[in-house]
Amino acid sequence: MSSYKIFYSPYYYADIGETHVFPIRKFELVRDKLLAEGTITTEEIIEPEPVSIEDLCLVHTKDYVTRFIEGKLSEKEIRRLGLPWSKSLVRRSLLATSGTINAAKHALKNNVSSNLAGGTHHAYPDRGEGFCVFNDVAVAIKVLQRDKLAERVLVIDCDVHQGDGTAFIFKDDASVFTFSMHGLKNYPLHKEKSSLDIELEDGTTDDEYLQILEQALPRVFAHSPDTIFYLAGADPYEKDKLGRLKLTKQGLKTRDLMVLTFAKENHVPVVTTMSGGYAIDINDTVEIHANTIRAVKEVFFGQKFHSLTTEISHSETQLGKGV
Ligand SMILES: [Zn+2]
Repeated sequence: MSSYKIFYSPYYYADIGETHVFPIRKFELVRDKLLAEGTITTEEIIEPEPVSIEDLCLVHTKDYVTRFIEGKLSEKEIRRLGLPWSKSLVRRSLLATSGTINAAKHALKNNVSSNLAGGTHHAYPDRGEGFCVFNDVAVAIKVLQRDKLAERVLVIDCDVHQGDGTAFIFKDDASVFTFSMHGLKNYPLHKEKSSLDIELEDGTTDDEYLQILEQALPRVFAHSPDTIFYLAGADPYEKDKLGRLKLTKQGLKTRDLMVLTFAKENHVPVVTTMSGGYAIDINDTVEIHANTIRAVKEVFFGQKFHSLTTEISHSETQLGKGV
């Protein structure tokens, strides 16, 4: 039986309205797709319990956590967060943070694990921003360090937006190296200082992106991490509404394979989280997130998948036979 575990809950869904730019259904769709095609099995999925207030407060202020849970944020705070408050949003935020903590603990024992959510890197200690309520990765890092499970941590943030909350939280903490590779002209307007920021011009392509990443990985691994958190954002995609870059689905999968292979070859456990993705067609966002899990299966478990081109030519052949 596979030692791989994926953390997911049907309650990662929250009622934010069907027209919201945040594709809240993606979590469920990614799970469904991976199960339907046989990339993962139901035995590999674990439903997390909600994170404790105590764990949240390793990063977040008690005031913010309490007021968010009780629905007492101000209108200005809700606007900055960009998501309407609801009980389902509270439940979702507590579960998704726990998913990353659990995935981290699991990865330490089994080299790799994933949360089918998380990577909410714009959240600051005292506020939510940019669709991010709690900074799940920061909370997970603090939990691991408190429990003496990890000391030196590397955050590889490949979401197209800077991991500003994460950079801020760890700015004076030499034990955590924050690496963010993001769009120069993209949100957030005010950027924080990560341990390493790589800013990309609008329209950056697969080749340029992958070359920059390949050169950066040995530099960030010089931190000698014992644990890695990978934010595999789907939003550097060429057809993303908020992305401004020009990466293809294949380019993004190559990115995932590159990061995961690097972690494996350096024998450092890696936790994958989803982060953002706002493709015009939600199926593209789902496919890109699914590719991250397929990449985990390829790199760590030797599972092979047909490439998109193989699938197309295969179905054409079958079609040909039918006529
Ligand atoms: Zn993003």
